[in-house]
Amino acid sequence: MTSLTGPANTPRKLGIVLILLVVLPLVFYSAYEFASLSEGERLMREMYQRQLDAILFSLNQHAWDVCSQWATQVDLFILSGPASDRKRIDEYFERTPALQAVVLADSNLRELSVLRRPGDTGQALTTAEWNALVTPARSRLDAVRRFQRVDYRKLEPFVLPDTVGGDGRILIMFARAIGGGDFAGLLIRERQFIQRVISPKLTEVASEEFILGVFRRGSAEPLTASGTVPPGSVFQRRDLWLLPGHEVGIRLQGTTVDEVVKARFQRNLLLILLLDLILLAGALMVYRNVRAQTEFARSKSAFVSNVSHELRTPLALIRMYAETLEMGRLKNEVKKQEYYSTILRETDRLSHLVNTILNFSRMEAGKRPYQFRSLDLNASTQAVLETYRLHLEQHQIHPVIAFAREPVRISADGDAVAEAIINLVDNGIKYRGSSTYLGVRTFARDGNGVLEIEDHGIGIAPEHQKKIFDVFYRVPTGAVHETKGSGLGLSLVSHIMNAHNGTVEVTSVPGKGSTFRLVFPLEKTPNTATAGENA
Ligand code: ADP
Repeated sequence: MTSLTGPANTPRKLGIVLILLVVLPLVFYSAYEFASLSEGERLMREMYQRQLDAILFSLNQHAWDVCSQWATQVDLFILSGPASDRKRIDEYFERTPALQAVVLADSNLRELSVLRRPGDTGQALTTAEWNALVTPARSRLDAVRRFQRVDYRKLEPFVLPDTVGGDGRILIMFARAIGGGDFAGLLIRERQFIQRVISPKLTEVASEEFILGVFRRGSAEPLTASGTVPPGSVFQRRDLWLLPGHEVGIRLQGTTVDEVVKARFQRNLLLILLLDLILLAGALMVYRNVRAQTEFARSKSAFVSNVSHELRTPLALIRMYAETLEMGRLKNEVKKQEYYSTILRETDRLSHLVNTILNFSRMEAGKRPYQFRSLDLNASTQAVLETYRLHLEQHQIHPVIAFAREPVRISADGDAVAEAIINLVDNGIKYRGSSTYLGVRTFARDGNGVLEIEDHGIGIAPEHQKKIFDVFYRVPTGAVHETKGSGLGLSLVSHIMNAHNGTVEVTSVPGKGSTFRLVFPLEKTPNTATAGENA
């Protein structure tokens, strides 16, 4: 059987090849994809954050531009006439909403004059506040002036102490473009500024995707927002340059960057896993297929060797006995009879084997003709047992028979049914182990006629119970190797049962024995209903 080591090794080799060609690359690929997923996640987060940053920047820039424009207008406004001209003051304030007052100071930050918005009753800037806040910031304002000299308008915000009601005031100082180094300041009310200048811009910038809001630093509740803010929302925030202590924040509508990135990550991970699964399943299928094929090839070559043996043994016996008889040396009549019956028995064995093989190949080719007619399962079984009586007796087997009281009528091909029964009885003898028990029962159940053949022999392990009906399959372990066989018997039975719309079942416990059951549909005539139970 050395030739069998080849096919036996094939699944292992294939397993190794599959691991090298599929599993390993898959592991590497998945690890790589996983790593690039995390990298992609990082890049995406960064990209989003940059985009959000750009939006926050543009908001800050807008507030800055507005104030810068107001500052320029202060220059123009002072150029165009005396500061006491009320009409022009009114016009100016009309163009600059949210501006509470304009503060003018000389280059030494002394001569202070405050032009208030007409009708403004809020707390204006007092000289005391000015002295406490602006005068000590001399160096900051010098820097502002230096920028102005190179034509860059720098705005320097100062937070004034809170007024009643929590509406803060901010003084935005700048150096005047004209006026030989004089300073001016825009006094704005935070709330007004946010509402009139920043809020419209928030709504304009926030598309369907984002929610924008202005916050006091450290507070989770926005002072104003471009949409409804779900509780507990996380905003990406940046300082508002012109309103110290305030921040502008942005978040994605209905979700956060983290959630978006996480969802994408999970989706991609799932896809990779799915791909892995499909590839692995494919590899597994290839592996199993090849293993099945190899097993089949092995069974087939075992079949050839078994059948050759099965043919040779009876032939050798027949030849030996026939030669002895032919020489005429045997005088003892009893011995002669014994030789004849051995020759007969061995011929039977031979023809049984040849028939099995021929029937099988005809069945495989779908060419076996069946002649269905009404027959009684009891009678068919009885006939087979009759034919087999001698054979059974030789093995000290006395079948324990329990036939149904009434005939079990089925529509079947008599020869085929007999062949199925013979195969089962034959197996019951071959695999009987040390027991001599053979139970044979027939009964009707649920519209079926059942024949049961039970032995108390070696039994069949659960993992082989399905496979024994496969062509050439023989249980590869244990006592079965001592018993020669073709591995065709049960597949023949299975074929026959299929042709009769019936089934063959097995219940078996290793070491305890097996019960094979042939289940035929009962013939559909009125008297089938009377088919009785066990006698
Ligand atoms: P064969 O008997 O020629 O090997 P079969 O197709 O009849 O082929 O049976 C297939 C295999 O099933 C047998 O080789 C044997 O391993 C197992 N088998 C069949 N019948 C029995 C039984 N009654 N008890 C134990 N094993 C059995």
